[in-house]
Amino acid sequence: SNFKVQPLQECIQRVIDLMKSEAVLLGHQIEHEFELDPIYILMDRDKIVQLLINLIKNAFEAMEENGVVFIRLYRVGSLGTIEIQDTGPGIPQEHLDQIFHPFFTTKKTGTGLGLSICHKIVQDHGGTIDLESSPKGTTFRVTCPAVHGSG
Ligand code: ADP
Ligand code: MG
Repeated sequence: SNFKVQPLQECIQRVIDLMKSEAVLLGHQIEHEFELDPIYILMDRDKIVQLLINLIKNAFEAMEENGVVFIRLYRVGSLGTIEIQDTGPGIPQEHLDQIFHPFFTTKKTGTGLGLSICHKIVQDHGGTIDLESSPKGTTFRVTCPAVHGSG
């Protein structure tokens, strides 16, 4: 399989490098704060990259110009957690139970597939994805089991 033990830091840094120019074009900023100790995850790297790109793209699309996306990585016990926080308008309460469903979209040209793919990728890694949302912004939180003895 494509699963290998790899540090999350390196993977997230790669995604930020990929998304920086798009952020600049859209007038947004990406800020990050990483746990210094490497957090090793048994991961399919391409899938984790896709997961993070989907979440960051949604954040960009939700925000007016001059938005900020905060990306945080930290460890809680044996779990690694990634947070993607935006300064967008939030997700209405009545949409919350649908946003992970395939084809649910509020965008004119959206596919509604991004978050359902994210959900599947996280599940395939034995992790969880959840969110907090308010009119000041949304935070998606992905948590995956970290590999012992490697970090
Ligand atoms: P799409 O981006 O094609 O609409 P997604 O599955 O990625 O499909 O997202 C589904 C819906 O969830 C979006 O249309 C939007 O209504 C909502 N959503 C997702 N992320 C955010 C976010 N960061 N802020 C506000 N709404 C969001
Ligand atoms: Mg999307």
